[in-house]
Amino acid sequence: MFFIWGSGGGRSEEGNLPEVCQCDTCKNITQMKGVIYYRYFHLWYLFSFLTSKKYVYECSHCNNGYQVSKEEFSKYFKKNHIPFIRKLGWLIVVAIIAAFIVFGSYSSSQHQAQIQSYLVTPLENDRYLANLAQIDNSGYDDQKKAYGILKLQKVLDNDKYYFTVSTQASNKKSGLNKMLERNSIKYDENDVITLTKEQITSLKDKNIIYDIIRN
Ligand SMILES: [Zn+2]
Repeated sequence: MFFIWGSGGGRSEEGNLPEVCQCDTCKNITQMKGVIYYRYFHLWYLFSFLTSKKYVYECSHCNNGYQVSKEEFSKYFKKNHIPFIRKLGWLIVVAIIAAFIVFGSYSSSQHQAQIQSYLVTPLENDRYLANLAQIDNSGYDDQKKAYGILKLQKVLDNDKYYFTVSTQASNKKSGLNKMLERNSIKYDENDVITLTKEQITSLKDKNIIYDIIRN
């Protein structure tokens, strides 16, 4: 990703002062305007915030004028008309980030609810993604991580879950995901693990069983 940033300036006319007066420069009796000159910083032109503001009373005849304090200026002009995007464009960034967080936690809670429903109403061929080394470490040579799959064969008495175990495992979850994408996972029909519903729930709470997929 590359960044485009920079700064810029603008001029915002806020309106006329209530009374006419004589301009010091052109000597005309004139209506003075309240003007704000501002500078802003931007990222991709969109996400921006103001870095400075100058308050000026300007002659509407010759455009010369003089700077006044913010307090003086705000006697006549309560709200400024600087474009929203210039002063509060950074809020868009905050809103986008917040939306991602909200969406992320929503979809993860949806996913957790789905896993729970798969546990309660199991189907043959449900695949439980798990760190097999922490379920049965025989065959993993003291490895701490062996992410593989338990494939559900049958459930007896609504409590005993029979699984066959994948012959491959990876020391990373991403490695297992790649095997899933390639659809290259095989199961050893002779390697059967039986777990009770309580054991499964406990393994899931410990995040040893960390996902369930169903086709
Ligand atoms: Zn003037």
